[in-house]
Amino acid sequence: MTKALESLLALQVQDDIVDGLRARIDALAPRLAELDQVRQRAVRSIEESRAGVDADERRQRELEGRISDHKQRHDRNVAHLDAVKRMREATAAMMQVEAGRKLLMEEENELRSIVGRVSDSHASIKRQEAHLEELDLAQAEARAEIEAERAAVAGELATADAERQALARGVEASLLQKYDRIRQRRHSQALYVLDNGACSCCDTAIPVQRRSVMATKGLIEVCEACGVLLYAS
Ligand SMILES: [Zn+2]
Repeated sequence: MTKALESLLALQVQDDIVDGLRARIDALAPRLAELDQVRQRAVRSIEESRAGVDADERRQRELEGRISDHKQRHDRNVAHLDAVKRMREATAAMMQVEAGRKLLMEEENELRSIVGRVSDSHASIKRQEAHLEELDLAQAEARAEIEAERAAVAGELATADAERQALARGVEASLLQKYDRIRQRRHSQALYVLDNGACSCCDTAIPVQRRSVMATKGLIEVCEACGVLLYAS
């Protein structure tokens, strides 16, 4: 095995290590995103509950105002009924009092149900807020774990990168350029061994003569079918 091939093979091993570490760091992102999503759902649910209770409280104030108006009118109607003497007027005044009483009853029923709902909603918001606090505590732990893992892998990556650079300096410049280009394009291995006279990446057979030159001179050639670098073992 030539020195050039040996250096390139060592570089490839190191690149796999570097890529593996990068993949481990990338894999942390979805774990963080998942935590963010869970938290956002809890926050959104509290916001929706608050909007609901705000609307109910507005309706409650409106109803209370209306009931107070209607009570005053009802009192006036009752006073009027007491004052009227003639039968025909009394019948009309009675109907007015009855209609007013019915309206007030309906409004008071609605108010009671809104007051109940508002109180339930406040209790529910309190529970949701407590849940969010617990969630934040639990997530703080998970986030710290992820951060610790990221820092550890980043440390390993820095070392591996430095080793990679040292190994790359041992590879001849034009060969390194070719190798780097292929590796970037394929996002994986760039250098393959000849296996029974064929490219072990795409299985295309290499002409016998070219094969024997590669074997005798230790040349690294490009596979014409798939574009990877090839060497004879
Ligand atoms: Zn090939």
